[in-house]
Amino acid sequence: MFKPVLGIIGGGQLGSMLSQAAKKLDIRTIVYCDDKDAPAQHFADEFIFGEYDEINKLKEFCYKVDIITYEFENIPFNTLQKLNDEKKVLPHPNINKIIQHRLYEKDFINKCNLRTTKYVHIKDQKDLEASVDYIPGLLKTCTLGYDGKGQYKIENVNQLPNLKLEFNKEYILEKFINLKSEISVVLTRYGHQRYSIYDPIENKHEDQILKYSEIPAKVENNIIDKSKEWASIIAEELDYVGTMCVEYFIDKNDNLYVNEIAPRVHNSGHLTINAYNVSQFESHIRAVCGMEKIKLSKLFDAKMINLIGSDINLYRGKKLNENEFFFDYLKKDIKDKRKMGHLTILKK
Ligand code: ADP
Ligand code: MG
Repeated sequence: MFKPVLGIIGGGQLGSMLSQAAKKLDIRTIVYCDDKDAPAQHFADEFIFGEYDEINKLKEFCYKVDIITYEFENIPFNTLQKLNDEKKVLPHPNINKIIQHRLYEKDFINKCNLRTTKYVHIKDQKDLEASVDYIPGLLKTCTLGYDGKGQYKIENVNQLPNLKLEFNKEYILEKFINLKSEISVVLTRYGHQRYSIYDPIENKHEDQILKYSEIPAKVENNIIDKSKEWASIIAEELDYVGTMCVEYFIDKNDNLYVNEIAPRVHNSGHLTINAYNVSQFESHIRAVCGMEKIKLSKLFDAKMINLIGSDINLYRGKKLNENEFFFDYLKKDIKDKRKMGHLTILKK
């Protein structure tokens, strides 16, 4: 069978784990990243360092690969589109264009007739002061936020006149949901109505950063079914190819809301490496490279702990139990609120 050379844009931990999964399938990878210390260079077959708008470097990358995918959503749309004129980019750049903008993303989800929290576009101070129906709420930048970055809690309307925002950016204000729990569904779409769907994962955040993921999720059966169904509706509507993740909120009355979509492999899916016969990373490579789909089978229940900032020091060099799997992302510097590694514990 023809094995394509796979180009991966982005060289963080997701790029590393994609490269490792590709190696297992005997697929060559070339990672392109704007960080010369990108961890994925230790796992890819080749590494190209360049900015995301550096035409010559991108051309070199494009020339060397057969198919292109990406590990994060904040790549300039123009770059993805230009690359897609030369070599197939999967998931399609149009998908990324919707999802990298929180407002377009929420509008799209509502167009699919799926529930989100109430939200409003905030373009200026006037919009902000008129937004009392959305308080208490969370104000988020429309683009470029992740791990809670670019998010501001607004507890009461008195805060509105005093918020001094930079209106060279767009914002969305989301009504705060009284959360009972959060879950995510990771799925891989291989083409029309062909899916691998992992069981919903229950997620716990600290300071808006994912801290723990666990399977099985402790939620009602109808929520399990609905969350999988909604994720497949979204994937089908986007004509998605590859692995994606839908993050959900569940409120105190057991209502399900779509929080956001990640057009890529996802942090909550890291436990699939050890808990399933096929990981989210391998599934992604299989789908984008046109390889055979393998039926998913869960081998173990599991819990994943994100090692954030200096947490990583507790595990470097530590002796592990046989049901524990430690992943060090090999990032150059330890920084606060930065994901440095993770630990997966299988419940055998
Ligand atoms: P990020 O892109 O940083 O993951 P999210 O929109 O997923 O941004 O927000 C991060 C976390 O913040 C969520 O997983 C949730 O715990 C909390 N959060 C975000 N929006 C809301 C909301 N509208 N109501 C309640 N909690 C929220
Ligand atoms: Mg999120």
